[in-house]
Amino acid sequence: MPRYDYRCRSCGETFELSRPMAESAEPATCPAGHDDTVKLLSAVAVGGVAAAPPQGGGCCGGGCCG
Ligand SMILES: [Zn+2]
Repeated sequence: MPRYDYRCRSCGETFELSRPMAESAEPATCPAGHDDTVKLLSAVAVGGVAAAPPQGGGCCGGGCCG
């Protein structure tokens, strides 16, 4: 289930809710009970960035240990 970030405009609290995508636009109540909240656009890891392959951290792969 996707997670959405919200911010409370009453107290400034930011919080996270897991809810179905169909309910992402539904009003969310902040932990303090305020309902004047806005949904934040969060950079959820969808797709993702191609990370560099792990390397380094040891010279034995390069033959310098032998
Ligand atoms: Zn609040």
